[in-house]
Amino acid sequence: MANQIKLGKSDLYVNPIGLGTNAVGGHNLYPNLNEETGKDLVRSAINNGINFIDTALLYGPGRSEELVGEVVKETGKRSELVIATKIAPIFGGEKMKIDNNPTFLKQEVEKSLKRLQTDYIDLMYIHYPDKVTPKDEAVGALQELKEQGKIRAIGVSNFTPDQLEEANKDGYVEVFQGEYNLLSRSAEETLFPYLIENNISFVPYFPLASGLLAGKYNKNAVFEDLRKDLPYFKGDVFKQNLEKVEEVRKIANAKGVEVAHLVLAWYLTSDAIDTIIPGAKSAEQVINNLKTLDVQLTNEEIQEIDQIFHK
Ligand code: NAP
Repeated sequence: MANQIKLGKSDLYVNPIGLGTNAVGGHNLYPNLNEETGKDLVRSAINNGINFIDTALLYGPGRSEELVGEVVKETGKRSELVIATKIAPIFGGEKMKIDNNPTFLKQEVEKSLKRLQTDYIDLMYIHYPDKVTPKDEAVGALQELKEQGKIRAIGVSNFTPDQLEEANKDGYVEVFQGEYNLLSRSAEETLFPYLIENNISFVPYFPLASGLLAGKYNKNAVFEDLRKDLPYFKGDVFKQNLEKVEEVRKIANAKGVEVAHLVLAWYLTSDAIDTIIPGAKSAEQVINNLKTLDVQLTNEEIQEIDQIFHK
């Protein structure tokens, strides 16, 4: 495993390849998930040197945190791991609600600590912005918990650039998590300049566009999970995206690497990104994604990949 990298201005050191766990106990996102498979893939990640594990209350809800907590406990490696989770959603009614109220966030951190069976959370994100809470006050609540040692670093996710600036009024935001991949690049213009200037690390979610950029799907693929609602997988856009993947495949083949690794390695060349958190449905995928670390891209290849997705 490659050297660990400091995550923005936080005190967290992570490996460049982490693990996203929305398919570990995320029964509300993916039907028919097997929890033992989920635990096994987290175990494989930890045993193969991945130290950055991304979960959230939303996945399950709560079940992903519980399963991650069980495996972390079983491995006895808690102190070597950087566990990130996210709060703000409220479940119970028909539709998920979002709350950033400081008192509410503090209560939710306590619940996450219990589900994860830990007495500190390395990185706590506010998962989504609500419409009413001043964002610096929401982050202020997490800062208090940081001072008490309950969390080690503060993140926000899915905030607009204005909400991010408001959240970071006191300079407390250390990590931003947002949607970003070769098929969805608006963050490069809207967020990266501010993040780089303020030494806030950008953690992209959907780095493989939920599997599309791993290079194994064709136009006949049918999706019955969260992907049926994602624009990447809809109609003509899906077909055009598959054509772009085929162009990446030519570069991958010439280099003797897999499409997924080429794509993941490309993100790590960005100044805004320290680490990536590809999700996985199996231990094999987790181990396979670690091959990204063997891929060295030339400047020419970086440009070529860039161009494919700018057409
Ligand atoms: P992703 O990383 O873009 O795609 C992961 C999917 O790609 C896997 O579930 C698997 O799906 C496929 N895959 C992974 N490795 C592969 C390999 N080596 N070969 C072939 N296929 C492979 O999408 P994601 O998991 O949804 O996103 C990553 C993480 O970001 C999540 O796990 C979660 O922790 C986080 N996230 C955060 C937010 C937020 O709002 N902050 C939103 C979404 C996700 P198939 O095998 O089914 O194709």
